[in-house]
Amino acid sequence: MKPMPFVYKNGAVAPIEEAKVSLASHSLQYGSTCFTGMRGYVRRGHVRLLRLREHFARLTDAVKILGWKCPLTFGQFSNALKELIQKNRPEQDFYIRPFLLTESEELRIDYTHLTFDLAIYLVPFGALFDPKKGLNLKISSWKRVSDSSMASKAKAGGCYINSCLAHTDARREGYDDAILMNEAGQIAELSGANLLAVYKGRVLTPPAGSDILDGITLRSCIEILASEGIEVIETPLDRSMLYGSEEIIAAGTAAQIQFAKSVDGRSISEEGPGPVCQLLRRKMDAIINKEDERFAHWITEWPIAPSHISASQTPHVRPCIVQTQLICAGV
Ligand code: PMP
Repeated sequence: MKPMPFVYKNGAVAPIEEAKVSLASHSLQYGSTCFTGMRGYVRRGHVRLLRLREHFARLTDAVKILGWKCPLTFGQFSNALKELIQKNRPEQDFYIRPFLLTESEELRIDYTHLTFDLAIYLVPFGALFDPKKGLNLKISSWKRVSDSSMASKAKAGGCYINSCLAHTDARREGYDDAILMNEAGQIAELSGANLLAVYKGRVLTPPAGSDILDGITLRSCIEILASEGIEVIETPLDRSMLYGSEEIIAAGTAAQIQFAKSVDGRSISEEGPGPVCQLLRRKMDAIINKEDERFAHWITEWPIAPSHISASQTPHVRPCIVQTQLICAGV
């Protein structure tokens, strides 16, 4: 999928061809970026975003964890994103990649004198995984990067070599994705999504302190299930618990809510999504379609055409065309 023609960089929207980065930049050489990923849902000439404030908070938390300098306010972040969306005029659902980078050509592996700035690009994007098919997963021989070695909560570019290795090996061996254990041998997460398991009738998920990314979709699932009277228990999971689970669910912005058909060849939900997966999907759809008042505050909605342009002057804005092409990797 090709990014949309306009990007945001150095405080302004610009054509993607003009947004260049030096070969010697610290971000490129050392993976010194951190990012978030959101989905933009195109509905009736408007874009809907889910949990914009939480995505911003994750970026600013990452800046703090990494000890970087990046004075970014929520107002700047959301205005930049709104301007970029309105400039690109997306006609179908898309993916949003806001990230922080430094253009410093400093060779030293030292963040002290570097400053970081916001950049954003957008990519047309539909389902990462076919919702009907389910995933065949493999427990990876790569361990999820430990927080004692790397900032596991920061969603830093460099950390994603870990995800790429696990995902690529799983795909090479014919699986859809990898599950990574942490160094303690407990289940952590998928290469680009968090994990929930229904085990002996209870919904479980690895605790935040088990080297996982604290995913916004996972937190949303926990709140949605709580609103339905279902408690999600954060507890260490071992390999045998996964093999014995009634359901295993991947939760992430790109992955959305996806069920596992099998893990390491052990059958989990061969027949299709289980009841918890189905419930989460229904509730998520209702939230995005603004049919559930209780979660209305999760949605940010902007017109795709800037307000000074009337709808009749916006030939680009058409009803949503659902993007059905599947791609193999995304976070
Ligand atoms: N874990 C990893 C390693 C990820 O890359 C992602 C995707 N951002 C997630 C979990 C899920 O996070 P979120 O729900 O915030 O997209």
